[in-house]
Amino acid sequence: MSPGKKPGALAEKLERLGITRREDLLLHLPLRHEDETRVTPVATALSAALSADETGSVQLQGAIIDSQIQFRPRRQLIVRLADVSGAITLRFLSFYPNQMAALAVGNQVRCVGEIRQGYFGAEMVHPRFRVVLPDTPLPETLTPVYPTTAGLTQSALSKLIDKALSEAPLDETLEAEFLAKARLPTLWDALLFLHHPPAGSDAHALVDRQHPAWRRVKLDELLAQQISLRRAYRARREIGAPRLAARGALAAALVRRLPFSLTHAQCLVFTEISADLNAPYPMQRLLQGDVGAGKTLVAALAICQTVESGWQAAFMAPTEILAEQHYLKLVDWLEPLGVEVVRLLGNQKGRARAARLAAARTAGLIVGTHALIQEGVDYERLALVVIDEQHRFGVQQRLALCRKGRAPHQLMMSATPIPRTLAMSYCADLDVSVLDELPPGRTPIRTRLARDGRREEVMAYVRKKVAAGQQVYWVCPLIEESETLQLKTALETHAWLAEALPELCVGLVHGRLKSAEKQAVMAEFAAGKMDLLVATTVIEVGVDVPNASLMVIEHAERFGLAQLHQLRGRVGRGAHESSCVLLYAEPLSPTARARLKIIFENNDGFEIARQDLKLRGPGEFIGSRQSGLPLLRYADLEADADLVETARALAEILLTRFPEKANPIRKRWLGEKEALLKA
Ligand code: ADP
Ligand code: MG
Repeated sequence: MSPGKKPGALAEKLERLGITRREDLLLHLPLRHEDETRVTPVATALSAALSADETGSVQLQGAIIDSQIQFRPRRQLIVRLADVSGAITLRFLSFYPNQMAALAVGNQVRCVGEIRQGYFGAEMVHPRFRVVLPDTPLPETLTPVYPTTAGLTQSALSKLIDKALSEAPLDETLEAEFLAKARLPTLWDALLFLHHPPAGSDAHALVDRQHPAWRRVKLDELLAQQISLRRAYRARREIGAPRLAARGALAAALVRRLPFSLTHAQCLVFTEISADLNAPYPMQRLLQGDVGAGKTLVAALAICQTVESGWQAAFMAPTEILAEQHYLKLVDWLEPLGVEVVRLLGNQKGRARAARLAAARTAGLIVGTHALIQEGVDYERLALVVIDEQHRFGVQQRLALCRKGRAPHQLMMSATPIPRTLAMSYCADLDVSVLDELPPGRTPIRTRLARDGRREEVMAYVRKKVAAGQQVYWVCPLIEESETLQLKTALETHAWLAEALPELCVGLVHGRLKSAEKQAVMAEFAAGKMDLLVATTVIEVGVDVPNASLMVIEHAERFGLAQLHQLRGRVGRGAHESSCVLLYAEPLSPTARARLKIIFENNDGFEIARQDLKLRGPGEFIGSRQSGLPLLRYADLEADADLVETARALAEILLTRFPEKANPIRKRWLGEKEALLKA
């Protein structure tokens, strides 16, 4: 080791790539390959480059016939390389003395790069090159190009990987018969192939990762994910949980008191949940349903079953506005049935807080925000945890609430629908229920797009709605970078709307208000004492005021798709025809344009989520925080949907019949990275 180089420097760089074990090296696969198994005559390469826009890289070999440093427009090294067919320019914008020496006239050089049309004709800029003898043999396999990190060269990384490949092969888990039928190679063969495809393989065709070798690797990756999640799922069934075996009198009483009947979907989903609650192990169920599908009522039925069985339920919502609203609704539904409902918010202090905490110990239902998981908050018999808008919470917060009981049942609700492929992979440790039907009588929301300049027309529309006795939300632009600026904009928007519409009662709600103030504003709006509510995204989720029939969103181009869909879902909750006006400022970026088009054309949250997934990819979409599992490296949920299904089935077989074979798969892909799943 050379002096000055700290020991462990290499290990550190490898760790930056996520490589700490031999398996990590084996699974560190090339981004692409370069074909250095062939040398293309210079003339052939030049004419190919002339006739096509993109040629990919080619390898040339020839003698250096000229080499000089030019100073205009900046210092650069210009080299001419010639073979029997022709000559080409190689241009280096930065270079070291030893590279200059290697490119001296008379040397035989092999270089790889893309040919581009420069000012002075066709050239290669910064090709990779090395000096060879005229008879130096060509490699027998394609050359891998690995993702790497600063200070670690391709060749150094390549050597480490080759060493790992030269050691004992990995055992094959899947049966030969299965692989033959699925037309897949063994994992070891797939890895050997992908690191070093034999000469003659098509480097360009490998890039889309649909080659059987790629598919075998992706199947293994998905299998590891499924094994890990399904193992967590099975482990939970070993944990004892209170059986909530109530006969269902309380839930039936609630249904009888409602002014409407349950939708078919609500009935089905509650039947599933009810069976889970009656089991001796903890439920972990994700309830998905589009905005307005009526998830809260399903939760209320589950709460009834809990309370009737003599246990407590906790209902956690991400914002105070939402928690307050749920509280009011649940009080309305449940108190007449004799259920004690307590609310815990962050703003309560002193003696009032002490009284609430005392009540929370034994109340049938506790509704609140993060305040539910604070220290000093205890529940004597917590058996059901409901988490509304679960994507707003981190894993840790969910677990913190669960720790307040002994393995309580968990019902997680989400109006940001997770597309099927995503749910099948990242949520494989959960049971999933879907409310795929909206309550009857909803009028579909009409969405309109309007350039910022058409504000006057929008104001006229607002007046018309209010004159008809309806109410309006006006959502302020999102300013992610600065909360102060966001607040300023909200205040300004409120000021000019109040001035422009003097005959209306205009209110304002934003995140900086004290929670009592927020609640007061929302209560006034809900009671119809206010015509127009100017709001920041604090009203994004859950808010339910049926008389509100128009929503205007300013600078809609700044919002994400899920956010727009959620916001829009605040209207269309009553009998009035509802609409949503998306004001946007030009120029629009291509993604912003795509988003607005999607939200304009679609009302179905699942379809929007699917398109969002395509636009953003699963990383952005789900965040590793949801499951605690790292994101997939190679598999693509859209393109490899069939492999997800296969992996799911195989994982069940392995876990049931050959658990000893399942472990190595899980370990080689996940190592220590699945800690969060244990809970
Ligand atoms: P989300 O699924 O978005 O959380 P909510 O639970 O807020 O939806 O329900 C939206 C509205 O629909 C609420 O006012 C709720 O009382 C009402 N609702 C729920 N179920 C039904 C039903 N079966 N028929 C009519 N209205 C219903
Ligand atoms: Mg809701």
